[in-house]
Amino acid sequence: MLPYAFLAAALLPILALAQDGGISGPTTSPDALGYSCDPTKCQLPNCNCASTSPPGGLKPSEVPQFIVFTADDAIQSYTLDSVNQFLAQRKNPNGCPIKMTYFTSLSFTNYTLVTDWYVAGNEIADHTMTHVGTPPAEEINGNLITLNALAGIPLSAIKGFRAPFLNYSVETLQLLYKSQFTYDSSAAASIPVTDPNTDAYWPYTLDNGMANDCLEVPGQCKGQPKLPGFWEIPMYAFFDNLGVAGPHLMDPWLDAANGDSKVNDTATLEYMQNTFTAHYNGNRQPIGLYTHPIHLSTTYPGVNAPMSTINMINAFLDWAQEQPNVWIVSNEQLLDWVQHPVPVSQLNQVESLKCTTPQVDASAKICNGIPGNEEGLLSHCAFSDFPFYTCYGCPTEQPSPANPNPPQDTSNGQAMRHRLPSNCSTPFWDPIAGNCLCNSQTCTFTDNSRAIGPNGANLTGGGTGGSFNQPSQTPTNQYIPFNGAAPPSLLPMGAYPAIILAVIGALIGTIGVASNL
Ligand SMILES: [Zn+2]
Repeated sequence: MLPYAFLAAALLPILALAQDGGISGPTTSPDALGYSCDPTKCQLPNCNCASTSPPGGLKPSEVPQFIVFTADDAIQSYTLDSVNQFLAQRKNPNGCPIKMTYFTSLSFTNYTLVTDWYVAGNEIADHTMTHVGTPPAEEINGNLITLNALAGIPLSAIKGFRAPFLNYSVETLQLLYKSQFTYDSSAAASIPVTDPNTDAYWPYTLDNGMANDCLEVPGQCKGQPKLPGFWEIPMYAFFDNLGVAGPHLMDPWLDAANGDSKVNDTATLEYMQNTFTAHYNGNRQPIGLYTHPIHLSTTYPGVNAPMSTINMINAFLDWAQEQPNVWIVSNEQLLDWVQHPVPVSQLNQVESLKCTTPQVDASAKICNGIPGNEEGLLSHCAFSDFPFYTCYGCPTEQPSPANPNPPQDTSNGQAMRHRLPSNCSTPFWDPIAGNCLCNSQTCTFTDNSRAIGPNGANLTGGGTGGSFNQPSQTPTNQYIPFNGAAPPSLLPMGAYPAIILAVIGALIGTIGVASNL
């Protein structure tokens, strides 16, 4: 067990820092925008103009209403408990469990839980190593390297970034582009969809520059920065009775509504429903619950989470899910649909919305992010300020931006663990034996290497720590995420029998989609 009392004290500064993400009014204006984009030249899937209309020319009535669910900061048992109290009991219209995006920072993160959360099908994204705004490259790339080394997350699976405090610059976006991220989600959609000047655009690429936060970020908008194929997924604010003067972006339930001085859950629920309805009855731009889960944890010592607020959020999600064609998704799932938009009648064909389960023998003793398999196999890395567990061997020192992948510590006599190589998938990789459980063509995976890391090294993962330049096996196939997030062309139905396409879930899904339309 972790020393909770000590962690509680140590986490207090993070708690204060976590009160980020507030906006108090519009972050852009028509004058500051200066945006132009030719939709005949900018076409899906790799280019999309900033637009309030749904992608692919679909009518709003043909479009699902997506609710994006994200969490930020360290991953610990009590933050996952907090997320689970909103999502674990829910399913999407296709019968699949809800997936979400966790923007993970590494101070106080327990790496084994990152592995588990990823293997359960959630998206792990980058939130810098030590939670700094306008981060240098080492903070952004170091997060990728450490999550790959100590949590076994494939480099290609870490696609997204959110800036701590939503504090980013043009340079931040350029760094993300250089490190081959797929998207950023730090910018605010700060004007209601009912306003003719709304900045609630569907996710778009920066081929023609940014179109959000034009008043906030120097050098942004009017065509800048041009980053072809790189996406912005705006964060969509809720608005209370004050309209454009009453935006609520992250953790809206922590704010007082309507200019009042005290938080009132009833008032929060009302404006969240009103904003949802405006999106739902309009162009169906996504809406988002952008959470710092520690505020709502009932298992974190020293945090007295208000049950009324937890119940209110669940009431909101219950209410939203009662309406047809509402899906709760991760950013990765949203973006996949935006790149390949299909009407709601065809959603049962969208691979990224399906649920897949890695087929690993329940009795196998393998440290792979599945709690039943990995029991008793975790290494405890007893660093004094924040201890953690991992499948992949303790480092000699805590990872830092200067050294995100320290060598393994074998001074206690433990054998070296093998890090995830580029051609195996997290649930199938045995880091103790250094063996991929599935070596056949049907379940061999290859990671797309990406140009990240110190000195622009072309990193592929693998090895045993201390260096990322020792790919241990020759890549063979395109890397296929087990959660089905690959483009359809890469994952034909039935082509990968080792990955169960959640047979029951898919069946229910087919029926569910059909009966809900
Ligand atoms: Zn944060």
